[in-house]
Amino acid sequence: MESLINAWQQMPAQINPAIFSIGSFQLRYYSLMYIVAFAIVYFLVLYRIKHEKYKNDQLPIDEQCNCYTCKHYSRAYLRHLFMSKEYNSAILNSIHNLYYYLNLMKTIREHIQNNSFSIFAKEFIGVTHASIEAPRDKSK
Ligand SMILES: [Zn+2]
Repeated sequence: MESLINAWQQMPAQINPAIFSIGSFQLRYYSLMYIVAFAIVYFLVLYRIKHEKYKNDQLPIDEQCNCYTCKHYSRAYLRHLFMSKEYNSAILNSIHNLYYYLNLMKTIREHIQNNSFSIFAKEFIGVTHASIEAPRDKSK
C-alpha cells in the first residue's frame, strides 16, 4: 500500500502536464483533475447516501459533530430527504460539510501556530502519508 501511495505522490513529476497545445494555449491535465476528483467524490457520496443501511439509522451524520444538522437530524431522515429530492437535503448536508471544514481549518491554524502541524497531519491523514511536512517556522 505504501508503494502505491508513493507512486501516486510521484506521479505529477513523471507526467507532461500538457494534454495538448494550440499555439501558446495549453490544456493541462491537472485542470481536469479537479473535475475528475469532483465527479468521483460526487458519485461516491451518491452511492453512500443511497445505501440501504442508512434507511433506519437514527444516528447523526457524525456523532462528534456539533453542527445544527447533526444535532437535529438523523441519517435516515437526511437519506429520506435526499431520496425524495427535497431541497432541504442539500441545505442540511451543506451545513454539516461547511461546519466540518471550518473546524478542520481552525484546527489546522491552531496546529500551525503551535508548530505541531506535522504531528496533526500524520494523525489526521495516517501514517502512510507521513511524508507531508509542516510549514517551515519563519522565526528560525
Ligand atoms: Zn455535523
